[in-house]
Amino acid sequence: MLDFVKKLLFVKQMKFENGNIKILGENFILIDAKTLTELLKEAKDCKQIYLSTKKIGKSITEALKTNLKSRNIELQELMKNIFEMAGWGEIEIMKINYDAKIAFFNLKKSSISTSFGKSSYPVDHLCRGFLAGGSSAIMRKDLDCIETNCLACGDKFCRFIVAETNYLKNNFYEFYKRQVDINADTK
Ligand SMILES: [Zn+2]
Repeated sequence: MLDFVKKLLFVKQMKFENGNIKILGENFILIDAKTLTELLKEAKDCKQIYLSTKKIGKSITEALKTNLKSRNIELQELMKNIFEMAGWGEIEIMKINYDAKIAFFNLKKSSISTSFGKSSYPVDHLCRGFLAGGSSAIMRKDLDCIETNCLACGDKFCRFIVAETNYLKNNFYEFYKRQVDINADTK
């Protein structure tokens, strides 16, 4: 991780100036995880948080894709490095299938889950959004993301599945309905 930061500083893609932090041309803010978890606890609608983060994740990934002209595998690695550098946790890409447009991620030591405390339901809606948006940009298809396991629920790590709407709806209906589309009535 430190190597990645050193590299960014060396190529002047990470700057601290005029009260701003700029990484790869985007503004970043250091924020206590507690602030975000309090906002999450207050929010009634996890879907809206998810959709907003998905939009941002998609636009950041698309901007990086255009600016860096990276291949998918490099972009994937870059997104992982940015995600971990920003302190969200240790993300592992378990499986990715570009043809089927499906990806599985495990997130160890999620900062949000740790800070959130115990919950009866997965809480990493911001990570879900980033993964959905980032993956949509990389795989050039509108994809969604559900969280099936969560540290906050007592699981060993958080697990995310990114796929097309129909796949999630057919295979993980309850998660899909609660996390992506509360109006989904039929399997
Ligand atoms: Zn989680």
